[in-house]
Amino acid sequence: MRTAALIVAAGRGTRAGSETPKQYARLGATSVLQEAVRAFTSHTAVDRVQVVIHADDAVPYEQSLSLSSDKLARPVAGGASRQASVRLGLEALAAEAPERVLIHDAARPFVPAAVIDRVLAALDTHPGAVPALTVADTLKRDSGSRTIAATVPRDGLWRAQTPQGFRFPDILSAHRNALRAARDDFTDDAAIAEWAGLSVALVEGAAQNIKLTTAEDVAEARHRIETTMTVSFEPRTGTGFDVHRFTAGSSVWLCGVEIPHSHALEGHSDADVGLHALTDALLGAIGDGDIGQHFPPSDPKWKGAASHLFLADAARRVRERGGRITNVDVTLLCETPRVSPHRPAMQARIAQILRIAPDRVGIKATTTEGLGFTGRREGIAAMASALVLLPFSLGD
Ligand code: MG
Repeated sequence: MRTAALIVAAGRGTRAGSETPKQYARLGATSVLQEAVRAFTSHTAVDRVQVVIHADDAVPYEQSLSLSSDKLARPVAGGASRQASVRLGLEALAAEAPERVLIHDAARPFVPAAVIDRVLAALDTHPGAVPALTVADTLKRDSGSRTIAATVPRDGLWRAQTPQGFRFPDILSAHRNALRAARDDFTDDAAIAEWAGLSVALVEGAAQNIKLTTAEDVAEARHRIETTMTVSFEPRTGTGFDVHRFTAGSSVWLCGVEIPHSHALEGHSDADVGLHALTDALLGAIGDGDIGQHFPPSDPKWKGAASHLFLADAARRVRERGGRITNVDVTLLCETPRVSPHRPAMQARIAQILRIAPDRVGIKATTTEGLGFTGRREGIAAMASALVLLPFSLGD
């Protein structure tokens, strides 16, 4: 493998003043992390993209990354410092022995392809290369009491950006040596390379390649994305219907909630008729078959399976297409059991499985006035609908 990109997303980012680390902040239909990742997965010279995340961030990672690319490796967990996180990311890439690595901050979502090109080109002649901008503002040193102690000459000063590019074996051994020397005070990878005696080239960065640091930065980035995104979203609807018959038992599963009852529902899985109808509605919205195709009743693997697995899989298929679930709505048709006492729990459970807000989940129930198989209490039927937003580009 020739070129890997290592994207460092393990920070907690509290400076941006929100609960969510800023690399996971939404930017309209996308996220800070997704734009940072896309810059590399979409670059023809990059063969592999490895993201390093905080060990607690598996869920926000998945929620903020809906693009799918063969280049994207599973995320690895970082360490206590940025430096440790980079080293762990490099170790994860070591097995694939890339020739070059681009180390990039996830909080820089707008790196232009031309900057990546310049960094890679400089690696032909240098072991390291850093994109940077000259300093335009006059620099002042604070006396310690918010008065100026001195004006600092700005000649020869540059502001370093990322991606910082290195020949892979060089930067990996520099990081390993820094660990052995118990040095953990380096603020970027170029500093480690300098310490290791590697020559690092300065190439031209880009003003748009800013590091989102404050809540204001994130808000500006969101505005920028919303006004320039060429991707649009189209609404897609899907419907689902399912029936399961009553059999001997003492509880039924409905919409992810177990309800004590005089009977159970018969089925290969847990027979959750509500979740089955809803799974089909989501699959229908994205034109991706039905529940029976993805989870054949003939496959013993799904015997007694909990139906939330089916629904979560449909939601994953939506996210893989870059889609978002706007809302879902389920109607249960039965004489018994009574659904309304369980409605809040059903709503919460489905919201949790789909990772959407509970007010985007409708749960309704009706009897059929004693008519038909549901009226004769032979079974339960469920109908569901879903609205999904799928991205499309002009020309699709
Ligand atoms: Mg079914």
